[in-house]
Amino acid sequence: MRVVVAGGGIIGLWCAAELAGAGAEVVVADHGALAGVAAPASAGWVVPVLSAPLSGPGVLSRSVLGLLRGQGSFAIRPAPTPALPRWMTGFLRSGTAAGHREGLKALLELGLSGVAGFEALRRTSPFELHRTGLLIAARTRHGAREAAELAEQARAAGYPGPVKTLDGAELRALEPALGPGVAGGVHATDDVHVRPEQVLDALTRVAEERGVDVRRGVAVLGVERSGHGRWNVVTGGGVLEADRVVIAAGVWSAALLAGLGVRVPLLPGGGYSLTARGTGTAPRHALKLIEANVAISPFEDGVRVSGMFELAAGPRPPAPRRMRHVLRTALPYLRDWRPTGFSGNGVRHGLRPATPDSLPLIGPVPGRDGVYAATGHGTLGLTLAPGTAEHLTPLVLTGREAAVLAPFALTRWAARPA
Ligand SMILES: Cc1cc2nc3c(=O)[nH]c(=O)nc-3n(C[C@H](O)[C@H](O)[C@H](O)COP(=O)(O)OP(=O)(O)OC[C@H]3O[C@@H](n4cnc5c(N)ncnc54)[C@H](O)[C@@H]3O)c2cc1C
Repeated sequence: MRVVVAGGGIIGLWCAAELAGAGAEVVVADHGALAGVAAPASAGWVVPVLSAPLSGPGVLSRSVLGLLRGQGSFAIRPAPTPALPRWMTGFLRSGTAAGHREGLKALLELGLSGVAGFEALRRTSPFELHRTGLLIAARTRHGAREAAELAEQARAAGYPGPVKTLDGAELRALEPALGPGVAGGVHATDDVHVRPEQVLDALTRVAEERGVDVRRGVAVLGVERSGHGRWNVVTGGGVLEADRVVIAAGVWSAALLAGLGVRVPLLPGGGYSLTARGTGTAPRHALKLIEANVAISPFEDGVRVSGMFELAAGPRPPAPRRMRHVLRTALPYLRDWRPTGFSGNGVRHGLRPATPDSLPLIGPVPGRDGVYAATGHGTLGLTLAPGTAEHLTPLVLTGREAAVLAPFALTRWAARPA
């Protein structure tokens, strides 16, 4: 069976490697030159403990307040798209207590194999993987309570790893990079962080070793029926024939799906990261700075600071003031670490493929037999990549549906096209 995967980001590559491992002949067509590809900008966290959907009771009022003050970690770019009202309506509808609880359970189930998936990939092809766990640090008592609640919700939804609650002194003893202003937080000891750019290289190597034909610089323009249940994937470099197609083009999947007559509420959630060398005490743990909503990832050659969720961002150029905002809100948590110069891939802007309910779109494309979607992974694309590939593969190759994928069906948003 020949499968064409449209998009060679973390999701497309992981699916391609898994499909080839199960015996399929696989071609990956990747554009290769788009600004805003998400994974290389990411913090690299594989963190099932943070599976809670973004939508939830009280989230909107907090975000709108930050938006109005221009101070929050959430923003809407000034030229919102016509798709925004539908997205916002979906966000509000899914933000009930029950929606939040069910969403968390579904994401957690999909993401539970995440850490093991990265460990297994690393045994085949090396990359940086840090097992220091995730520390959630708060500067206020309210933030410390929020961190403890987040961990407790994850535990109640089935997160199996140990989570320790720590006061400010205990946090600083464990992570000397944290400053005196830190009041408390939690430590999820089993979650890990990886170097995302290296993971993409490792995945490409593994996929190619399994016989996947990874083509960079090949933009998919559309997907058309070719007769006898087969499909033509039309690319800038010609037509690729396929028995099955997987659309895994990140936020750009929305346009490919629209070409098939299927409209899904998928918008970019723009984020920023900066990887830098510095002076002072560098962090040793992945740190979520809870009030600032900033992620810190220590790597071998520097520290990555990332944050912001800029809804409906791009294709306009990223705003440098957003990166400055991320850094400005992060530094007060740290004792004395200060960036002195770029390392790694420097400053990056990435577009998270975001759905209103924070649940990805994984499964058959309605009314288009043989075409599947694997996108919409939002803030959790790395964490969910192994689980997505594991469960999508039997569905694509044998039609066998896994119960774990049911909450991610496209039919929750997309009507069957005519
Ligand atoms: C700042 C930031 C921090 C993040 N931190 C984390 C984190 O710590 N942990 C975590 O789990 N997640 C994190 N994420 C989210 C994660 O990066 C994304 O969910 C994930 O990268 C999405 O993967 P993807 O393959 O769907 O999309 P992308 O990574 O965007 O890849 C899409 C691919 O499709 C290709 N493509 C697009 N259009 C076409 C076309 N027409 N034809 C051919 N190819 C095409 C592109 O070239 C690209 O290679 C973060 C994201 C950002 C921006």
